[in-house]
Order: sequence, then structure tokens, then C-alpha cells
Amino acid sequence: MAKFKGAIVIDIEKCKGCGLCVEVCPQKVIELGNNVNTKGYFYADVIKEDCTACENCVMVCPDTVITLYKAKLEV
Ligand code: SF4
Ligand code: SF4
Repeated sequence: MAKFKGAIVIDIEKCKGCGLCVEVCPQKVIELGNNVNTKGYFYADVIKEDCTACENCVMVCPDTVITLYKAKLEV
């Protein structure tokens, strides 16, 4: 099976801080931070670079806030 390396970008102004993406990430890449956006929500933050591009967070986010960049790793 091909392996992938991913990187996500979170549009923090659209994030409502629901935490669903935090729950579904198998690599624990995302956490809710201590800062709020202009709407007053504690937004999700990328805390490490271990994303495997599984797409869980993209699929679960109710507000389509997360963009995933995906690259196939050569083995
Ligand atoms: S694509 Fe998968 S591994 Fe990457 S941040 Fe989202 S849930 Fe985590
Ligand atoms: S699932 Fe979407 S709205 Fe919810 S915390 Fe994650 S990025 Fe924000």
C-alpha cells in the first residue's frame, strides 16, 4: 500500500472549535489552542508534522475549514 505524507491548513477564522478533528486524527496532529479567533472560538491548531493524509479531519469538519495537501512517498 502506498504511503502518504500530508500537511493540513486550518482556516482559523472559520473554525468553531468543535474539536471533532482533534478526536478523529490518529496521529494527534491537531489540538484546540488557547487563542480565540475574531468570533470568539478557541480554534484548532496543528501541533506536529506527523500527518499521514488519512483525510479523517477533512471529512469530519462540519464547516469545511481544513485543507489537506497530500504527497505520495516513494518507497
Ligand atoms: S489527514 Fe489524518 S493524519 Fe492528517 S491531520 Fe487530518 S486526521 Fe490527522
Ligand atoms: S472540526 Fe473543523 S470546526 Fe471543528 S475544531 Fe476542527 S477545524 Fe474547527
